[in-house]
Amino acid sequence: MGEPARDVMAPFLFRCPTTGMTVQDFVAQDEADDIGDLGTHHAIKCIACGRVHMLAIRRLANGGLTALDPDQGD
Ligand SMILES: [Zn+2]
Repeated sequence: MGEPARDVMAPFLFRCPTTGMTVQDFVAQDEADDIGDLGTHHAIKCIACGRVHMLAIRRLANGGLTALDPDQGD
């Protein structure tokens, strides 16, 4: 029942500014460990549009990660 790589990658959601789609991507767990609730900028290769976006990834109260703008709701 192995779950390869899941343990070392931390998922987060962001909204692609080009397509408007909500996209799930991952950062390495060691990068995720450096992310606090104020957010840390990462260059993320977007799987929706193929471009690189600079995203402020921040930690949620539940310990997960998100790069969604809190003002966008959803
Ligand atoms: Zn994109």
